[in-house]
Amino acid sequence: MTWASKLAEPYRIEDGKKFRLKDFDPGDTGHFRSKEHATELLEKGIGHMAALQDKLYAQDRWGLLLIFQAMDAAGKDGAIKHVMSGVNPQGCQVHSFKTPSTEELNHDYLWRTMQRVPERGQIGIFNRSYYEEVLVVRVHQELLKAERIPESLITKDLWKDRFRDICAFERYLSRNGIVIRKFFLHLSKQEQKKRFLDRLDQPEKNWKFSAADVRERESWDDYMDAYEDMIRNTSTKHSPWFVIPADNKWFTRLAVAAAIVDTLDDLDLSYPEVDAQKRKELQAARTMLRGGRKQS
Ligand code: ATP
Ligand code: MG
Repeated sequence: MTWASKLAEPYRIEDGKKFRLKDFDPGDTGHFRSKEHATELLEKGIGHMAALQDKLYAQDRWGLLLIFQAMDAAGKDGAIKHVMSGVNPQGCQVHSFKTPSTEELNHDYLWRTMQRVPERGQIGIFNRSYYEEVLVVRVHQELLKAERIPESLITKDLWKDRFRDICAFERYLSRNGIVIRKFFLHLSKQEQKKRFLDRLDQPEKNWKFSAADVRERESWDDYMDAYEDMIRNTSTKHSPWFVIPADNKWFTRLAVAAAIVDTLDDLDLSYPEVDAQKRKELQAARTMLRGGRKQS
């Protein structure tokens, strides 16, 4: 077992049947005692990720889709920023999914995501995703109205059906070589309060504060139920959820980096092989360049 796989393993859910959110502690930091203790490994992990991404890009066969979901102030943005700090921007795209536009609402809910699925050779990051359709839309069911789904299709099985459709979509993508990893940054309600207060108290964090986020906090328990049900129903071997402790940002970042490194490691990435014809071309180019240098 590599360091990355050992670190990420306790948080990976491949079969959600027995999943209970209460079995996971948002304050968990594995066997790490402090930020300092984890920094060296995080740096190593980011270096490792950059090397693997280079091969992913060169090989141009697999795509990697990373999905981030969480309550406000759980650290999605920071985790994305830190974890991707070492990778080549040409091989990575981040997309944030906000409240759907009128045009988006005119379509089925997967429509807007389809166009953002990463190409082969690329890492695509979804900051929120179609999972909002079983989270915010489930907690605030008036949002369903805005989706204008025909009345007769809104049945008691709606959420189960959405889980099934999402699983089918993810299976389809994985059969096409798009590898999916999903991260739920698991924050405690108490730590969220602390972070909201920091946003109010520290001028450089004021811009992040949103009164709407504080209102959403009142639906905390409904959100937790929705997250739990989502993880129970959409965790699979090819598209697992990682329930990442989020009360300590330094650990969140380390655990996310470990899960990504472990995933890329498993793909057995390698640079494209050079065949005899290509080798000949390389030799010819070398001779030309050497000759060129003499002339100059
Ligand atoms: P974040 O909150 O992710 O850090 P932000 O504050 O920059 O980002 P917001 O304007 O809060 O951006 O946009 C995210 C909001 O969009 C969230 O409240 C989320 O629940 C909502 N949202 C995302 N997807 C959907 C959807 N499919 N249906 C309804 N609301 C959605
Ligand atoms: Mg927001």
